[in-house]
Amino acid sequence: MGTICQGDPLPSPKWVAVNGPLAHELGWPEGWDGPSALAVLAGNAVWPGMEPVATVYSGHQFGVWAGQLGDGRALLLGELITPMGPQEIQLKGAGATPYSRRADGRAVLRSSIREFLCSEAMHALGVPTTRALSLVASPQAVRRETMETSAVVGRVAPSFIRFGHFEHFAHGAAAGDELRYEATLQALVDFVVVHHYPHLQDADNRALALLDAVVSRTAELMAHWQSIGFCHGVMNTDNMSILGLTIDYGPFGFLNEFDPQHVCNHSDTHGRYAWQNQPQMGYWNLRALAQALLPLMPDTKDDPQAVIDVLQTYEQRFPQAMRARWSAKLGLQTEQADDAQLAVDLLQLMAACRADFTITFRRLCQYRGDLSPADTLNAPVRDMFIDRDGFDAWALRYGARLEAEAGDTASQAERTARMQQVNPAYVLRNHLAETAIRRAQAGDFSEVQRLHQLLMQPYDEQPGFEAYADFPPDWAQSIEVSCSS
Ligand code: AMP
Ligand code: MG
Repeated sequence: MGTICQGDPLPSPKWVAVNGPLAHELGWPEGWDGPSALAVLAGNAVWPGMEPVATVYSGHQFGVWAGQLGDGRALLLGELITPMGPQEIQLKGAGATPYSRRADGRAVLRSSIREFLCSEAMHALGVPTTRALSLVASPQAVRRETMETSAVVGRVAPSFIRFGHFEHFAHGAAAGDELRYEATLQALVDFVVVHHYPHLQDADNRALALLDAVVSRTAELMAHWQSIGFCHGVMNTDNMSILGLTIDYGPFGFLNEFDPQHVCNHSDTHGRYAWQNQPQMGYWNLRALAQALLPLMPDTKDDPQAVIDVLQTYEQRFPQAMRARWSAKLGLQTEQADDAQLAVDLLQLMAACRADFTITFRRLCQYRGDLSPADTLNAPVRDMFIDRDGFDAWALRYGARLEAEAGDTASQAERTARMQQVNPAYVLRNHLAETAIRRAQAGDFSEVQRLHQLLMQPYDEQPGFEAYADFPPDWAQSIEVSCSS
């Protein structure tokens, strides 16, 4: 499903940032980031054994079948055996491939900085994601809305296979030439199962077992995203990982003032991928995957009920995963029937008051349920809500709920510490990325590196970095991000 290709040489590459901790996890020695690694991670050379490949996939974009897409600007360098298991290294922006269509195969520095930083920020937040090993910049000019310069991100993941890879071969099967395409589709399922879901190898039907596993991982991923206010921006089926990883960081964003209908992608004019729609869109994409796998389930051709049953487990799995995340964010360790309502009511109040998503939850970690909601010690979180009465009413219920934790002997400090491990202080807000981008475009990469360091510990207060945890400045509202830059 891939084509061997070389990409295009990138003139005068230089490091913007390297990810030392990830290189260490890969088992690479100190000093790995010399000229040889720079040449390889710029796409200008290969190490022995590497045979760069671009793969073909198709997909549904914004709900519409888009036909063949593929790695238009991604090159798989190869798979490494590492202490963290086999890992693929892929370059994004290394030049034209057979799947570039009419585009240039490049990525601009701006979007590459965003991908580098957010991949690692998400990993540190505990969200399944592809990783970023390196960021290389070049003066080579590329045309977007204005002229910009290009960059290459070195990405690492156990696999970059997407729902769209399956759709590609299934669509071929539907269009004729069934035997060839079905055999490839089956080979793809076998490859993914054997390499990435080995416990499913002996399933009666591997395709159905794979679907079940991906439904589960996608439900978990969506709950993760929602719980930290992450908006992906382009949840097309070609941007959905078969491993349930966050993949393809483009016009993503983190919620500032909480608006469930927030759309982070300027090109998404209908709000298809608004924050509140993401779980539904995950489900929609799973349906597309299920459809693609149907040719491998001959028993279901007349009666697809088994597939529908597996798909529909999402309707329990997602809410269950979501409840667990909200409960943890509220500091609850036991389960009670109306916990979900408590979380929903808080979110509604936050939305009505346009309370900042990240800051509100972070401040809630310090909430003292043993005191009155109006106590000065509770002022930091209470002040997030212009509707004070609304907050007080909710906070009284919350205080009672904290008290009702079965056998709750947890001290306030213990609960605060626990909640601070799921309610981050630092997320990659657009204005933080934008500041790093503007400096980098002027040749100063230090802010990219500083943000990378900071976001590796998003749950710990870091002295001197209070401003990075603060409300976005007014100018942040004018930042626009859109597809494919
Ligand atoms: P995206 O919206 O970034 O997920 O991209 C959708 C499709 O367009 C993928 O197949 C990409 O590989 C391709 N693509 C996006 N930008 C470029 C580019 N500059 N050059 C070649 N292909 C691109
Ligand atoms: Mg993509």
